[in-house]
Amino acid sequence: MTEKRSADVLVIGGGIMGCATAYRLSKKGLDVLVLEKKEIGNGGSCRNAGGVRQSARDPKELPLAMYAVEHIWPTLSDELGVNVEYVQKGNIRLGLTEKDIKELEARMSEDVRGCAGRVMDMYEAPFARDMGIEVERVEKDRVECSMVLEPRMMNSMGRGHGAAVYALIDHAFGIASNLYEDNTGQSTEVKFYRPAAGKLTAEAVLVNRSRSLAVFDVRVRSEERKLIASAVCTSFVIRKP
Ligand SMILES: Cc1cc2nc3c(=O)[nH]c(=O)nc-3n(C[C@H](O)[C@H](O)[C@H](O)COP(=O)(O)OP(=O)(O)OC[C@H]3O[C@@H](n4cnc5c(N)ncnc54)[C@H](O)[C@@H]3O)c2cc1C
Repeated sequence: MTEKRSADVLVIGGGIMGCATAYRLSKKGLDVLVLEKKEIGNGGSCRNAGGVRQSARDPKELPLAMYAVEHIWPTLSDELGVNVEYVQKGNIRLGLTEKDIKELEARMSEDVRGCAGRVMDMYEAPFARDMGIEVERVEKDRVECSMVLEPRMMNSMGRGHGAAVYALIDHAFGIASNLYEDNTGQSTEVKFYRPAAGKLTAEAVLVNRSRSLAVFDVRVRSEERKLIASAVCTSFVIRKP
């Protein structure tokens, strides 16, 4: 076996960016070598939610996303001879309008309505949007979020993936702990009781708040109100208002 020692272009990293770059350059006739430290698709490219969207993106990414949706994804399976499972369905998110804030405020108890902007920022976090996590109810010491488990969030047994359930727990905890002061997660201890499916609801309830720490009890329940998972989540207070 001969080892390839030189090329016109070296690409470091065999994720979607590296492989797509190498593919396009080699189609232009360049000799390209991809150097991957582990295996192709070792990073985020093999562990993502698979959404191809133009909404809820950093505006700087938009021209690239729009180009890809128009010119790359629709024909990629034919071009590569591999089914990349691209289906165009649509995805609309309307931004931070007064109406959105009003809708959110209606789900907040009166004493925390002044925090609607902070909650909206957390609601808009790209990861939470990818997972489709909704904010159901926000009170001073209690936050409820929900999420519908989609096929892409299942494990190999066809049940809700632990990481997806954890994402819901973490989001409810994140909103509860950052409602009116800046906190950062210190620890989460999660227990799973039942397989998860369908719509899940996570309720984060404040157990204790000291000057430097806040502790929350988070419970995830199914639509039938069965306990799916629970967690004790602790955060450091990093800045008070
Ligand atoms: C949970 C999750 C959900 C997501 N959902 C979506 C989504 O729905 N839609 C969306 O558009 N994006 C989503 N993303 C983001 C998306 O997956 C990433 O933006 C994308 O995969 C990044 O691709 P990349 O090629 O830049 O990096 P990666 O895929 O991480 O590839 C980097 C590669 O470089 C290799 N490497 C690193 N250092 C070296 C080195 N020194 N030498 C050699 N090789 C090296 C790594 O092993 C890895 O294989 C999600 C990400 C996560 C984690």
